[in-house]
Parts: sequence; structure tokens; C-alpha cells
Amino acid sequence: MTQSLSKLVGEGLAYFNVINGKRIVAVEKEVIEVVCPSDGKVFCTIPRSRQEDVNRAVDAARLAFNSGPWAELTAVERGRILHKWSQLILENLDELAALESRDTGKPVRQGIADIRAAARYYEFYAGAVDKIHGDTIPVLAGHTALTLREPHGVVGAIIPWNYPSQIMGRIAGAALAMGNTLVIKPAEDACLSVIRIAELALDAGLPAGVLNVVTGYGEEAGAPLTKNVHIDFLTFTGSPDVGMLIQHAAARNHIGCTLELGGKSPQILFEDADLDAAIPVVVNAIIQNSGQTCSAGSRVLVSRKIVDQVSEELGKRFSSLVAAPHHEDGDLGPVVSTFQRVQIERMVAVAAEHDVPLIAKGTISSSAPKTGYYIAPMLFGPVRTNERIAQEEIFGPVLALIVFDDEEEAINIANGTPFGLVAGVWTRDGSRAMRVARKIRAGQIFINGYGAGGGVELPFGGFKKSGHGREKGFEALYEFSATKTIVINHG
Ligand code: ADP
Repeated sequence: MTQSLSKLVGEGLAYFNVINGKRIVAVEKEVIEVVCPSDGKVFCTIPRSRQEDVNRAVDAARLAFNSGPWAELTAVERGRILHKWSQLILENLDELAALESRDTGKPVRQGIADIRAAARYYEFYAGAVDKIHGDTIPVLAGHTALTLREPHGVVGAIIPWNYPSQIMGRIAGAALAMGNTLVIKPAEDACLSVIRIAELALDAGLPAGVLNVVTGYGEEAGAPLTKNVHIDFLTFTGSPDVGMLIQHAAARNHIGCTLELGGKSPQILFEDADLDAAIPVVVNAIIQNSGQTCSAGSRVLVSRKIVDQVSEELGKRFSSLVAAPHHEDGDLGPVVSTFQRVQIERMVAVAAEHDVPLIAKGTISSSAPKTGYYIAPMLFGPVRTNERIAQEEIFGPVLALIVFDDEEEAINIANGTPFGLVAGVWTRDGSRAMRVARKIRAGQIFINGYGAGGGVELPFGGFKKSGHGREKGFEALYEFSATKTIVINHG
């Protein structure tokens, strides 16, 4: 391992932790080899950090919060640094997008969209932060009461591999805007953009120690971060199982946390839906990022009155979809790892064992290396609501078509999973659209659409097993801060 590190350092292909404003290797000098999902080949390394590395990062963040220049800056000054950071990200768009695509396997255009969205988070929070203010509250005679929003302190963030730059953006943008300092443990499978963007923050003028990135495996680097007693708040995006561990860790230290844990999001097509508009959106919502999206529209609920037409049109589209290497910018890229591919194949095998009909399947490009992690997109249906592919998050390009007879049944099916992250409602009947939107238990509902250009401005988060707390938009600024009340007795 150490040998390959020095070779890759020589070739400029080793990435480093960012701790206290410096690029550094792990204390034990171990590395993790980073593989491109398109061909399964190693192309660089990241530090394999452990508890000591994490502790150093948290100490740096603690010091930066307690006594660094960061604590002295006003909201508008913090905003200016974020704005400069956003500009630097856009100036480096090509490099960052190429890195994001190679690291995750996502098509180049998606890499570009992700980096643009990441930059937009810092722009949004740069502009928002000096508009956050407290209240004055009528209270006893001779008294004035007012509230301030104050940062939690040191925030620990554990993030996944599916949208590294975007998820970093929504957390770092809001948490730093409010004056916290931050330690990010990105995912071992894809995190290069996170490291590069953290380096750009230093160029933008973010003081050393305010933002630290420590790479490594979940149990070796993530767990010590969650247990460190100098962390004041945790935020996690990833699987429900690990989310539970994070919540336990937060409870042990009596600190708050937000969790975003995925979904099984439905798109409901009523009989009066504009199918020309809906069909391409339904397809895109499951193949984007090869289905590895928390908010993927992985169930399509279709009125029995139009199910034949919808099955045929969706089927035609699925048959024509091609998974290809990221640089070919095809319909979709590979999934992120062998592990992920095996998980998806397992779910598909269960569906086959249960005789769930496969309506259509796409193909894998002949140019795709056999060593890459490709999955042809699949449309199953009609799927019974109790099937695993109708209930569990697959995190792959697999869509379950489910039939309903009336509005009430559509709502019951939509709500009939443990998750509640996002939903789409397609109908020309405005009253029905609102009725259904109000009855679905999900954090975001789209009517006659699905998604809104990254949704930087829109509060995002789950009900039920999809997690709690809200990210994005103004709400994230409240999550990453606490109210302090001051009461003045002036007689
Ligand atoms: P995914 O299905 O996205 O891989 P995970 O929940 O396994 O979801 O991973 C999301 C993030 O959580 C990654 O950064 C991973 O390293 C981290 N992680 C995994 N296990 C733990 C753990 N026990 N403690 C803290 N972080 C962990």
C-alpha cells in the first residue's frame, strides 16, 4: 500500500486529507485504492484514515471554532468567502466534472450538472446568510426579549458516494454560512471532488481548520467521528442501517443530528395525466445516476385505465436505453462498485423467483469494458405491492410499475412503504393534484413534474424511515444553528 502511495504521489494521482488547511496523508500512511466504475481499474489513492486522523481534524475544527478568525467574521463576510468559493468551483468546472464522472461512473453531462449545483449551494447560502435574523418577543413589562441564531459549533458530516460534490455543497454551504466549523468524512467509494472542493475553499479565503476532510472506511474513520466528544452536531446521508448507528452515537453524546436515508419514491400517473410530458420524466427519474439517487422515482403507480398504454410506451423507452462508460455520455453509466451491482442483481433475482413480469430491459454498450460495473435498466410490472422490489430501496436502474384503481388506492400504495422522501403526481385535475399531495407522507411532492434543477432552494428531507431534519433552502440554516434567547430587564 505504502509503495503504491509513493508511486501515485510521484504521478500526481494521490489525494490527501485536508486538515487545518494542509493536505496531509494518514498518520499510518495507508491508502485506499480508488477504482473507476467504468472499467474497474485503479486510478488514484485516498488516505485510509483512522481515529487519530479524525481526532486531529476535529481538534483543528474545534480550535477554529473557539478562537480562530472565523469566529470574528460577520454573516456578510462569511457569505463573501462562500461566494468566492462558488466562483472558483465554476472556474474549475471542467476539471471537477471530469473527476466526479470518473470517480462515480456518472455520464459527463451529469458530472457537469452536479458541479454546477454544488457551486450554486455556496452561491445560495452566500446570499441567504445575512438575511437570517431573530425576533423580538413581547414579554413582561420593563423587559425586552430577543432571539439570535447561533452556530452549533463543530459539525461532523458523513456523506455517501452517489453525489459527493452536491451533498457536500448542501451541508458545507449551510453549516459554514451559519458560522459552524466542519469535519467531513466522505464515502470511500467516491470522494475526490470533495477533497478538491475543500482545497478550493482555502483559495477562496476560508481560514485553516474551518473545513476539514478525512477520507476512509465507515467503521475506521466514520465511526470515530460520530463518537468524538468534541463534535456538537452530526449530519448523515446514507443507508437506514448506518443512520441508526449515527443516531445512537449522537444520543450517547447528547447532540442533535439530521439523517437523510433514502426512499422508495412513487410517481402517480392518473388517467388524465399528460403522458407526453410524464413518460420521459418517469424514465429519467429512475435512470439518472443509474438509479443511485435517494430521491429516485423507483415506483410508477399507474391508473388501470391507462396501464396498457403506459406499459407499452415505458417499455419502448426502456428497451432503447444503453448503459455506457461515463466518458461516452450515454443514457446512464455503470453503478459505483461490484458490491452495488451484486446488491441490485440480488433484488432482481428475487423478483424473477417470484415471477414478477419483466416488461422491458435495456442493454449494455458493446464498448463497455467487461471489468466495469454495468447494469442494464429494467422495467418490471405489474408488481404486487408486497414484493421486495415494490418495498425496498434498490439503488439501481430498476423501475416497478404498480397498478391502482382509484385515488384512494393510489394514495395508500404511495404511502405503503417504510419510506417518505419524494413523490410525483401527474394529473390535469388541479383539485385532485392538491388533495393527493396533501395526503402523501413525503418531504417533497412534485405536481406534473419531478425534481427542480437540483432543488438547491427547496427544503429536502424525509418522513418515516427516510430520516428527519431538513437540508437545502433556508431550512438548512435553521438546522445548522440554535436559537439563543436574551431577556433584558431594563425596568
Ligand atoms: P451507502 O449505501 O450509500 O454505501 P452507507 O450508509 O453504507 O451507504 O455509507 C454512507 C456513508 O456512511 C459512507 O461515508 C460510509 O463510509 C459511512 N459509514 C458506513 N458505516 C459507518 C459507520 N459504522 N459509522 C459511521 N459511518 C459509516
